Amino acid sequence: MRIGVLALQGGFAEHIRMLRSLQADTFEIRRREDALGRMDGLVLPGGESTAIGKLLKDLGLFGPLKERIRGGLPTFGTCAGMILLARRISGTDTAYFGAIDIEVKRNAFGRQLGSFFTEAPFKGIGTVPMTFIRAPYIERAAPEVEILSLADGHPVAARQRHVLATACHPELTADSRIHRYFIEQLCAAGAGRRDCLTL
Ligand code: GLN
Repeated sequence: MRIGVLALQGGFAEHIRMLRSLQADTFEIRRREDALGRMDGLVLPGGESTAIGKLLKDLGLFGPLKERIRGGLPTFGTCAGMILLARRISGTDTAYFGAIDIEVKRNAFGRQLGSFFTEAPFKGIGTVPMTFIRAPYIERAAPEVEILSLADGHPVAARQRHVLATACHPELTADSRIHRYFIEQLCAAGAGRRDCLTL
């Protein structure tokens, strides 16, 4: 199992640590060449989605990654990573990979709830700890999208076939079950191998 972690900005080191604790072979994606080799899964970390999006384009990484994600590469995005995967970002015409049919609102929990910790049920896993940092939530989702968790009444985790997105940061907790879910249910299960996404 070889998992690439986008390492341009934000919290990639924590994802790598957690994936390694689960015995996954991980590597950092920093340059175009890194995006072209064997990869059984891809992780897009939190950070600042506009900054990561700009770097992706400036470094020539955006095209190859988009093609691979939309072609079925199992992909897990957290927070800014969720924003990069979404089909729409509320109030803008900007979108990046458009690989999961959701509309997300950036910094959605407002000032008072800017950063917070909670616990919530996550479908197929159980109750998990959740750390949110200026997080988005999902405002709309297509019927094919499975909502996996709610926090403060809003959808904060979703899956569409080989694409998993969470508004929280499981890599910042001591609980590795969401990463394990990604490895076992998406990467090892070959979640994207059957046909191509038609978004
Ligand atoms: N607020 C950030 C954004 O809009 C996301 C924050 C995060 O990834 N922790 O990109």
